[in-house]
Amino acid sequence: MTIAQKSNLTSGLHLIATPIGNARDISLRALDLLASADVLAAEDTRSLRRLMDIHGISLDDRPLLAYHEHNGAKMRPRLMQEIAGGKSVLYASEAGTPLISDPGFDLVRAAREEGHYVTSAPGPTAAVTALSISGLPSDRFLFAGFLPNAKSARKRALDSVAAVEATVVFYESPKRLGAMLADAAEVLGSTRQAAVCRELTKRFEEVRRGTLTELAEFYQETQAKGEIVVLVEKGVAQEMTQEDVETLLRDHLETQSVRDASEAVAKTSGWPKRKVYQLALSLDA
Ligand code: SAM
Repeated sequence: MTIAQKSNLTSGLHLIATPIGNARDISLRALDLLASADVLAAEDTRSLRRLMDIHGISLDDRPLLAYHEHNGAKMRPRLMQEIAGGKSVLYASEAGTPLISDPGFDLVRAAREEGHYVTSAPGPTAAVTALSISGLPSDRFLFAGFLPNAKSARKRALDSVAAVEATVVFYESPKRLGAMLADAAEVLGSTRQAAVCRELTKRFEEVRRGTLTELAEFYQETQAKGEIVVLVEKGVAQEMTQEDVETLLRDHLETQSVRDASEAVAKTSGWPKRKVYQLALSLDA
């Protein structure tokens, strides 16, 4: 690769999506950008080097810089300076699409704020790959990313998506999968249809379907392995009984004020705010 070829790219920030398992899941345009950008930045420089090796792309004398959540604030000015100086800067996260539960947002925002050209060579992302093969409705979906680790925060986060009228997509670690599904069954409803998609695009790719309770029971007995996406179908709207609302309220009142708990539960249950507030006051007394 000659210097003349390298400098053909427009100066600016060029994001590329990288494979989430199968190394051949990379677009021709992403490979072109890898071969021709002046400066390469990556969340994990070793993974990017490996990918370049697989596809026969040499780094030559171009800088390959680490840019991740721990050094982003320090690295951004350097990358912005390169762009301001007329260079094309490529950014790749460790796997999949940058910014999707991965670094890159602050970098894109900084480039936009400085008026630089920003583009993306799109490609794999685990959320959409899972959605497309799960068999759950794909007409509307909400990407909810990773849930909090702590149980009470996780339940609150689940509660906040309980009434969403769309398939909800979560990323989850194999260690927490059983506990997450049990909480989801409790908060979102035990009979909701769900799917656990594992190791997408890899040798042991698997999609397991069932109700949240069935999946929770399975993964509480079986330690999951690999990378995981959990999808939950939208709930069927049904009137909650007073008992259901009281149980939800008690849960929220453990960590929230009467006002916040009532607001959250009114949203989830569809009950009028005033009615929920009065019930919360009586429980809190
Ligand atoms: N930026 C990535 C994307 O576009 O999907 C996501 C990065 S996030 C740090 C990593 C999480 O994505 C994993 O913990 C898992 O939940 C999900 N994931 C990534 N690759 C996957 C795969 N091959 N199969 C299933 N889930 C995957």
